[in-house]
Amino acid sequence: MPLTIHPASTPVEDVTVMSAMRRGFLCRCPACNRGRLFGRFLKVVERCEDCGTEFHHHRADDLPPYIVIFIVGHLVGYGILMTETKMEMPLWAHMAIWPLLTLVLSLALLQPVKGAVVGLQYALGMHGFGAAREKKKAERETTGDGRANTGEDGHAGRRGA
Ligand SMILES: [Zn+2]
Repeated sequence: MPLTIHPASTPVEDVTVMSAMRRGFLCRCPACNRGRLFGRFLKVVERCEDCGTEFHHHRADDLPPYIVIFIVGHLVGYGILMTETKMEMPLWAHMAIWPLLTLVLSLALLQPVKGAVVGLQYALGMHGFGAAREKKKAERETTGDGRANTGEDGHAGRRGA
């Protein structure tokens, strides 16, 4: 199958990168902010139930877990370091708190972070999002052109009168 590369630097006209990522983080559709982005845990919907934007061609892959490991690793690592240096905590307490906190934070952050990554890819037109947007834009332009041509007034013809 031929792989087409689309420019991934131009954001969508109707949504900024930050708002698309924020919508994705809140597990809403990055395009319309109304439909749900996930059908079940970590499973991105095929298309938005509200606006019909397709999401099956996202490529979040390993980036969400990488970001979650980065965040949780820093929080828990800093927490362990601080409790070790500032207070005397028994070993059993460490064993009870930190693995549980790591698990809870990882599970809680994974889906929102994945949503934000999908929002980023949507806003930048990466992977299939760019091709889908170009198709939609071309459809809009062909219908828009017809309307623009009929709306021209006879400005030049008035000169002779
Ligand atoms: Zn939508």
